[in-house]
Amino acid sequence: MDRSYIASLGLEPVLDKVLAGARLSMGEGQALYDCPDLHVPALMARHVRTRLHGDRVHYVVNRHVNPTNICVNRCRFCAYRRDEGQDGAYVLTAEEALEKLRAAGPVDEVHIVGGCHPALGLGYYEDLAARVRAAYPKASIKALTAVEIDHLAKVSGVSIREVLDRLKGAGVDMLPGGGAEIFAEGPRKTLCPEKIGGEAWLSVMAEAHAAGLRSNATMLFGHLETTTHRLEHMDALRRQQDATGGFVCFIPLPYLPGNNPLGEEASGPSAMDVLRTMSVARLMLDNIPHIKAYWVMLGLKLSQLCLSYGADDLDGTVVEENIGHEAGSGTQQALTIPELEEAIRSSGFTPVRRDGLFREATQ
Ligand code: SF4
Repeated sequence: MDRSYIASLGLEPVLDKVLAGARLSMGEGQALYDCPDLHVPALMARHVRTRLHGDRVHYVVNRHVNPTNICVNRCRFCAYRRDEGQDGAYVLTAEEALEKLRAAGPVDEVHIVGGCHPALGLGYYEDLAARVRAAYPKASIKALTAVEIDHLAKVSGVSIREVLDRLKGAGVDMLPGGGAEIFAEGPRKTLCPEKIGGEAWLSVMAEAHAAGLRSNATMLFGHLETTTHRLEHMDALRRQQDATGGFVCFIPLPYLPGNNPLGEEASGPSAMDVLRTMSVARLMLDNIPHIKAYWVMLGLKLSQLCLSYGADDLDGTVVEENIGHEAGSGTQQALTIPELEEAIRSSGFTPVRRDGLFREATQ
């Protein structure tokens, strides 16, 4: 890194903290967002990702299952939800869900998320998780966002802790990080007024970590929020992580403006904004080990670039993805293991196959 050039941009103190592994302040995060040269935060983020992960880039052989698209909420960015009885509304039986899994062959991770159904109770999800566990004894089961957990507790008349304990008992290892969107109250109220607020989302995650479950964390960006809102979101996550330590991976998700009520009111982030946000996330989230470039929503080419801007994970083979594709993601539905490994190698990194918890997978 050219220190005099970085000093000329006023970022030498930030560089010193990055090299020392010290925590960056919100003001320093803002300075990285405001820096006119994208490559400066990128170089710092690359330094941190190399310190943490060398030249390794992770991927997972996984399969998504979306048990239902019926949802009581009406998030304005969502193109996936349906009302009960509406064309295209569905609920999978556990057997249908397993059929979809079997069709994908061996997997190291099963990812289960869907809508907040008005009547499906905890028993349905316990049974589904137990049957997936029986069929895939070694795979990580990553199931239900904090929003779904909160909803399930209400529908089933039990505490959040009971939902978490019973799902864990049925074989769930971790929660995906969805539903976090953006914590800031202003944009959150416009985007997803029915959804639990940021504090409640963090509280479900704290209970999950206390119950021995791990989780990911997401941030939806490129809609109505400011860079200050993004930094506040990251700061809330790292404070939560200081307290409970259960976040495995952070996933910045670009808003996709297709087929949803928010639509063109927000256009989604530019490629430059995506790259900068990857870098800022890697630098601000000093206590979350992994940063994911989710190729399904970013596209593979931009995701490959993200690997040089702080990300160390590409997600996985996926096989069938509905939520991002209904919102206009133009990416393919699946990648093969050779395609993922080639994408990583041709970006200058070494592929490492992992499970949901980022343990090296050997199957
Ligand atoms: S984003 Fe999730 S909670 Fe919101 S409407 Fe869509 S399915 Fe429901």
